[in-house]
Amino acid sequence: MTDDAAAPICLARPPAGPGDARAGGCAAARGVDGRPLHAAALKFFWGPMDCGKSTMALQMNYNHARQGRRGLVTTRIDRSLGPQVTTRIGLSHTAIEVTDDLDLRALVRGRWDEGVRVDYLICDEASFYTVAHVEQMAELVDSYDVDVYAFGLATDFRSCLFPAAQRLFELADEVARIQVEVLCWCGREGLLNARVVDGRVAREGAQVVIGDTVDTAEVRYQVLCRRHYRSGDLGPRR
Ligand SMILES: [Zn+2]
Repeated sequence: MTDDAAAPICLARPPAGPGDARAGGCAAARGVDGRPLHAAALKFFWGPMDCGKSTMALQMNYNHARQGRRGLVTTRIDRSLGPQVTTRIGLSHTAIEVTDDLDLRALVRGRWDEGVRVDYLICDEASFYTVAHVEQMAELVDSYDVDVYAFGLATDFRSCLFPAAQRLFELADEVARIQVEVLCWCGREGLLNARVVDGRVAREGAQVVIGDTVDTAEVRYQVLCRRHYRSGDLGPRR
């Protein structure tokens, strides 16, 4: 694929707003059979803590950038608590912090107004975004022809879906579970993100509480298999 083929259809004439986009201001270029030449997609990659989501997000950003595509990296409540994506294996990348009132469509439009191409978004920690953000992602794909790759947890410490993750499961063109296995202390595959407070598995509390997966943290998270998540057995101390 040449650079030209990968270039965003909307580049020459980005829509001034969602209304314009709906009015056809950003209609995808079509081949002779009437099908869009480039079909943007919303993809959601999910997995428990420690499965390498942020690493994969940065790898995907690198792969696309290498092919001449331009993207933005966004995050929310990264473990560094700063405007960057950091990974447990030492990679980091500056990122745009997503707040409740940030409109992802306006973010892209703003870059276009500055003459900066945006071909795709990498949205890390997407389960901490709002449902409205996920709707904006879908609109970016459908009306702006911008690819959106979201990475995040599926479920919270109570083993219930995060609202944004639920919406991503409902709307995404493609959903993929990240295949790097995280093991429970017993050796079974870990899937659930237990919140540990005072040495016990918490069963209630706020949906988002910042902690880490290191043993010394006051509030920490530990990935457990379903059996040990349900029994609350954290295993022998490491
Ligand atoms: Zn287990």
